[in-house]
Amino acid sequence: MKITGHRTQILRIPEDDPLADSPEEEGRLRPIVILSLATDAGIEGIGLTFYGGALTGALARAVGELAALIEGADPLRIEAIHQKLRAAAGDQCGPAGLFTLALSAIDIALWDIKGKALGQPIWRLLGGHRDRVATYASGSLRRGLSDAQAARAAGVLVKKGFTEMKTQMALPGTPAPAEEVRRVRVVRDAIGPHIKLMCDINQRWRPEQAIEIGRRVEEIGLSWLEDVTTADDYQGLARVNAALSTPIAGGEYVWGIAPFRQMIEARSVDIVMIDLVRVGGVTQWLKVAGMAEAFNLPVVSHVIPEFHCQLIGAVPNGLTVEYMPWMLKLFHETPAIEKGQLVLPEKPGFGLAWDPKAIARYAA
Ligand SMILES: [Mg+2]
Repeated sequence: MKITGHRTQILRIPEDDPLADSPEEEGRLRPIVILSLATDAGIEGIGLTFYGGALTGALARAVGELAALIEGADPLRIEAIHQKLRAAAGDQCGPAGLFTLALSAIDIALWDIKGKALGQPIWRLLGGHRDRVATYASGSLRRGLSDAQAARAAGVLVKKGFTEMKTQMALPGTPAPAEEVRRVRVVRDAIGPHIKLMCDINQRWRPEQAIEIGRRVEEIGLSWLEDVTTADDYQGLARVNAALSTPIAGGEYVWGIAPFRQMIEARSVDIVMIDLVRVGGVTQWLKVAGMAEAFNLPVVSHVIPEFHCQLIGAVPNGLTVEYMPWMLKLFHETPAIEKGQLVLPEKPGFGLAWDPKAIARYAA
């Protein structure tokens, strides 16, 4: 089989919150780049990438330029393709940033082709550890909501059957630690003691703040505190991690696989969060999952649950999938949630197909 062509397109997707119908992000658009890779066997692989921000045009062009370099290549030889693209660009312009974001779109499409060529869903191809995975509602219980809005949204999520959900601290302004704790308690009281609750800080605290506020929220019972300080302050994270009994999660803000070695060796996190797009695609995601397993650590995903559920389901240390519904509307069909768990699809590859009407609607 050979790669015969590619198609890239920029889309702008509304940042709405279909899980709890909350208003905060109304009117804002999130740019993404989608990719289709064609083969001479008639199999088409799909991939996507984002985080380009104001450089999304450059990102789309990078995806197209890299994809052009692999025309004629065997799509099943994915490591050989990585090596070729690194030699052509990544080794010169740097291992992170635009290069890795572009590489990820291509890698995802190559794995989609491999799954389709072998007639297997990705989760089974990569290990097949389980056919249902835990998932948690994300993006609805944001720091910008009022207490009443947060409590209402939490109630909506519980009613929809979610058994795990994530909220945020590092409230707007400079709130006292007691105010941060009070807000998490509002959410906990709205959902009761049995729902798993995570909390994201998005790198907004100093390590000292994380320790002080983290100690105060321990009695509320959080499943994890996420990105409590600057993501590559591995030693600062380790100080926080050592001081708190609540698990510390992190990893979505680092690039490629090497930072995870530093993070894990420094004991910066208890839960390793791997972002498919920033890590360099499926190939690299799996390497980090294996690294974490060797250190007896679970892994969790970041956004795009329609892709990540297959990876969390494949590996033995996959813990839960972040159900962030950003891109779901782009596909004909996405994995169903039953009893709070994502049901992994049986269709080959990622089991996803672009919905042409949605693509046309969001075309930039
Ligand atoms: Mg996060």
